[in-house]
Amino acid sequence: MKVVLQNLTKKFPGRGRKNREDVIAVNDFSFEIPDGKLIGLLGPSGCGKSTTLNLISGLLKPTSGRIFFGGDDVTDLPPENRGIGLVFQNYALYPHLTVLQNILFPLQNLKGKDRLSKEEMLEKAGEAARLVQIDELMDRRPGELSGGQQQRVAIARALVKMPRVLLLDEPLSNLDARLRLQTREEIRRIQRQTGITTIFVTHDQEEAMSISDSIVVMKDGIVQQIGRPQEVYDEPVNLFVARFLGTPPINVFEGVIREGRLYLGKDAVLDAPGVCDQEVYVGIRPEGFALQEDGPLVCELRGVEVMGRDISVVCAHPASANPAVRAIVGTESNVDPQGGTVRFSLKPRKVFLFHKNTQVRIIPEKVQLRNVNR
Ligand code: ADP
Ligand code: MG
Repeated sequence: MKVVLQNLTKKFPGRGRKNREDVIAVNDFSFEIPDGKLIGLLGPSGCGKSTTLNLISGLLKPTSGRIFFGGDDVTDLPPENRGIGLVFQNYALYPHLTVLQNILFPLQNLKGKDRLSKEEMLEKAGEAARLVQIDELMDRRPGELSGGQQQRVAIARALVKMPRVLLLDEPLSNLDARLRLQTREEIRRIQRQTGITTIFVTHDQEEAMSISDSIVVMKDGIVQQIGRPQEVYDEPVNLFVARFLGTPPINVFEGVIREGRLYLGKDAVLDAPGVCDQEVYVGIRPEGFALQEDGPLVCELRGVEVMGRDISVVCAHPASANPAVRAIVGTESNVDPQGGTVRFSLKPRKVFLFHKNTQVRIIPEKVQLRNVNR
């Protein structure tokens, strides 16, 4: 089922004397979610992710804008008539009911022509339970399950009616790290298997990047960028998006363009032909550095962190906007942890320029960063 959001806006009126100003939780959000895809809605806490999801589910009414499922305008439909499945962070299971009864619950409320026989209900509940691999636990109560198992029950309950759209709001946040990893793979598998159009809300960029067909990055109610995860990582439209994606995070420097060359402090690090003289923010991905004895970027070494697969070289540079610069290099690299300075060359595709005032990326088509010809 294709989902279309058309100029979706949600304002919450300001309350009380102190905060009289309206909160615009979602601001003019337009997007077409293709049938059968998994979309990751990503952004820091308070950016409007849950509000967006609740507008799609019908739990909230938009201040303006329309929502379509396929060809149907569902904007004025109550949640129960939209054909959605909802999963929240805190499972929201009925504690006094067994797993089976929890999963059956949505089916028991079906009315009229949708009514099912007892056998049909049990069959559907069994199918949903098998999909999330909890069919062995049907007689337990939520209190007798681990967090991961409870969340599976919640997912089975959301799936049992075969919703047109599945909405997940930070479903993994209550799980420990290993289980989070495992459950997100499960969600991806189930989504592929069922082909249900799914919107997955998270503040965790790695989570969103790893399972989404496309991600939507939000800030302060406003969509910043939509694209395939790799595309957004490789071509961020602004400094916010560049900073939000990637671990370790992108390194930010205050730089200057002078006569077609990019300077970080006094180091002329790249050629930037065609860019007019100006101050810029420069983002360099941790993997954008290469150790080079006579490299143009001269840093002061602070330490070396071994990460197994590679090494993180931690250093300082006068033009860095952060106390530490982190460069990821291969384990074969010989960095003397005692050494005073390290020098790098930069990989131009991993370096982004941003306008100093707007923090908008300086358009890549117009910029051909190159290694300095010396
Ligand atoms: P997220 O899920 O991304 O953390 P939310 O969608 O919950 O963010 O909230 C977005 C903004 O809207 C926040 O500033 C929040 O305080 C505000 N907000 C959310 N719900 C309400 C509400 N019912 N009344 C007033 N403000 C709200
Ligand atoms: Mg939220």
